[in-house]
Amino acid sequence: MTDPATLLAPSTRLADVNARIAHAARIAGRRADAVTLIAVSKTHSAERIAPLIAAGQRVFGENRVQEAQAKWPALREAHPGIALHLVGQLQSNKADEAVAQFDCIHSLDRPSLVGALAKAMDKAGRRVPCFVQVNIGAEEQKGGCAIADLPALLAQARAADLPVIGLMCVPPLGIEPAPFFALLDKLAADHGLEGRSMGMSDDFETAIMLGATHVRVGSALFGTRG
Ligand SMILES: *Cc1c(COP(=O)(O)O)cnc(C)c1O
Repeated sequence: MTDPATLLAPSTRLADVNARIAHAARIAGRRADAVTLIAVSKTHSAERIAPLIAAGQRVFGENRVQEAQAKWPALREAHPGIALHLVGQLQSNKADEAVAQFDCIHSLDRPSLVGALAKAMDKAGRRVPCFVQVNIGAEEQKGGCAIADLPALLAQARAADLPVIGLMCVPPLGIEPAPFFALLDKLAADHGLEGRSMGMSDDFETAIMLGATHVRVGSALFGTRG
């Protein structure tokens, strides 16, 4: 079945998502500009991305360092002012490339990565803001730090002078995400963190009502990934 989103012009899809963000923020008594829309462009070509840039979108997300390296240098050269966020898991041996490419990293989730990122940032002379990813549903094979390990990981990141700006989660698939968003919001508040990176195409309005500051939206903007 054809995804309806693919039939609409990119500018129409972007305007629709932005209107939905503004609406959810208004219901929650929050300002629409308190929510950053990250357009997750993983698997999509530069040709698919360009129309969204033309329509005004400036913040994009990728989940692989190598894919971002292949796609984004040319796009960024042509369109200054773009911010690129890493939303996927990061291997420690790619920390240098990640720090060079990305303006924000959403997947800090273990002590070894704290060390690798601190070293990479020192080397590059550039501090890249990070979200600590939390395995909010305590799922076996999912990335993210266990809730019980969060205080220690945050202490390590602070000791290493990593700029941690918030928490990030991807709730378990197929069940109501709201309780997980509410839990991430509480954990962030407990630790005095402003940022909450939560909510994707199917649930970003719920996430905004529960405090999301960054929503990561792919298929609602680009259509389903092939
Ligand atoms: C792909 C991805 C998204 C976007 O998902 P959609 O359902 O297409 O909006 C958000 N966050 C992460 C971590 C992703 O990998």
